[in-house]
Amino acid sequence: MENLEDKAGAADLIVVTNVRLPNGRATDLHIRDGLIVRHGEPHGMDRPEATAHIIDGKDCLVLPGLVDGHMHLDKTLFGTPWFPQQAGPSRWSRIETEKRLRAELPPVAQRAANLIDSCIAKGTTAIRTHVDIDPDIGLDQLRAVRDVREDYADKVDIQIVAFPQSGVLRCPGVADLLDAAFAEGADLLGGIDPMAMDEDLDGQLDVLFEIAQRHDVGVDIHLHDGGADGLAEINAFTARVAAHGLSGGMTVSHGFALAGADAAEFETTAAAMAKAGVSLATHGGGGSPPPPVKMLRERGVEVFAGNDNVRDLWSPYGDGDMLERAMLLAWRSGFRNDPDLAVALDCAGAAGARALGLTGHGLEPGCCADLFTVMAETPAEAVVSRPRRPLVMKNGRIVATDGAVVSN
Ligand SMILES: [Zn+2]
Repeated sequence: MENLEDKAGAADLIVVTNVRLPNGRATDLHIRDGLIVRHGEPHGMDRPEATAHIIDGKDCLVLPGLVDGHMHLDKTLFGTPWFPQQAGPSRWSRIETEKRLRAELPPVAQRAANLIDSCIAKGTTAIRTHVDIDPDIGLDQLRAVRDVREDYADKVDIQIVAFPQSGVLRCPGVADLLDAAFAEGADLLGGIDPMAMDEDLDGQLDVLFEIAQRHDVGVDIHLHDGGADGLAEINAFTARVAAHGLSGGMTVSHGFALAGADAAEFETTAAAMAKAGVSLATHGGGGSPPPPVKMLRERGVEVFAGNDNVRDLWSPYGDGDMLERAMLLAWRSGFRNDPDLAVALDCAGAAGARALGLTGHGLEPGCCADLFTVMAETPAEAVVSRPRRPLVMKNGRIVATDGAVVSN
């Protein structure tokens, strides 16, 4: 670790003093060129040079940046006046309600920025967002989110999934729009419930994997269906990933059917997902039973978390806080002890980083200085209490303090 610090000059050293690592040890974090280069003695006792920029960590717990692995930045109404839910309980009602109302909403860029600000202020340093694509809006919302991503490039990493919210085969032109999305800023391809939406499991997957292969991108597919259909979808998706030899970013979002599968079906599906490298993104189940997080992880499936819908026409809840999402996931999973709460936190951070292919996530020397401080004794308390976050850093720069994003 000494070498990392010795290689660079002294002028750009940042020292976050007097923070506590997740293992409880007090330390100073030495940061240079966007990287953590050293763990120093606490309270700056061995501060190497007087020119270092000192930030008082105030005896807070320090954690690696949170990763929101499943969002819908284009849908959110965050930061706008309260908008009562108008859709019925069905998926179709929500889709049709959104289509009817979205033209009346403030611009996507404004709403997305409102939510991104809230995420950053709460310690999120990376987001994967799905963005709607359908015949009516084309790529408009994708371009809007892409431009917002540029605006926030120095504050948060954003991956964009081209998401066919209204289906693929049933919407003429959507396949071509998905194909075109990769010249407009999309990073991954989305999909949705091939059986319920398109009534053609293989048909939708044929289209998705043809596009994914052409652009060499990962696929993150929304699979809400439960029961036998849902399990068939998960297994068909996983088999395609294995057959195509694809890896990196391959994700089932939700996978509610995993919660209701019998033991033999679950073991078969989990083993196949682990072998093919298919991850599971979850928001904790919402109105459905949550996926068996620990059982999946124990079988080698990467499970990571995201807030999904935040204050939009699908859900009135949330403010982008991934500690809150970790708490909800833990609560719904029956987690009570500290090791289990650490699993929930891992889903909201390190596991998301792995699933999103982000390198350098962590607090060890050599990791990116993407981190935040929180007024909690332990990681478990941080999940349960979701307390104030005095400091958020991205690539070694302060991006938020005391719940507010700093201006450039
Ligand atoms: Zn979603």
